[in-house]
Amino acid sequence: MSKGKLFVVAGPSGAGKATLVRGLLAADAKVQLSVSFTSRAPRDGEQDGRDYHFVSREEFLAMVSRGEFLEHAEVHGNLYGTSQKWITDAMAAGQDILLEIDVQGAQQVRKIFGDEIGIFILPPSAEVLEQRLRNRGTDSEDAIVRRLANAREEIARLAEFDYVIVNEHIDQAVRDIIGIVRAERCKVAAQSERHQSLIASLQG
Ligand code: 5GP
Repeated sequence: MSKGKLFVVAGPSGAGKATLVRGLLAADAKVQLSVSFTSRAPRDGEQDGRDYHFVSREEFLAMVSRGEFLEHAEVHGNLYGTSQKWITDAMAAGQDILLEIDVQGAQQVRKIFGDEIGIFILPPSAEVLEQRLRNRGTDSEDAIVRRLANAREEIARLAEFDYVIVNEHIDQAVRDIIGIVRAERCKVAAQSERHQSLIASLQG
């Protein structure tokens, strides 16, 4: 079985990562999304097990002490983490995996694997970023101000990633991420492993 790829999508809150990832998953059944654990309260419309596994801060910290996270971080005052077991199982099955996490988590993943593909999502302008955060209508003024401040720090780490998508028009941005995933699958190393017998037979 050929080894699956690990994609890490990061970028400031309000850049539209979740919409973009939904578009990719709808178009590409081979990519499996890791559902993170968080101590944040669910927003309206969010479902436990689909958007996040919602747990209390105490439960989250107990999971940290049991070593159940591949990576975890505190973002905007809440705890977020990726299940180690889910990743191990998905990798063993040879699946392409996508993590939608913050830059601190992306850094931890880079230290562990080193061959993940980092994709950073940018909003088209500072005004649009702020507008998107306000339009969600789910966060307090305090939370919005914190998310805007964090955005500046996250964008400063853009160079740590392999690809950047400017999410101005969602359809175009979805096409970009689909294109990145397809291009990564067509890399010589991946194709040589996947099509060993084809290549051998063509060589006679
Ligand atoms: P939100 O509260 O808006 O859903 O997410 C806030 C931030 O936490 C986003 O930047 C999101 O990518 C990040 N995040 C979500 N899940 C994880 C995770 O498992 N690990 C880390 N490090 N960050 C996460």
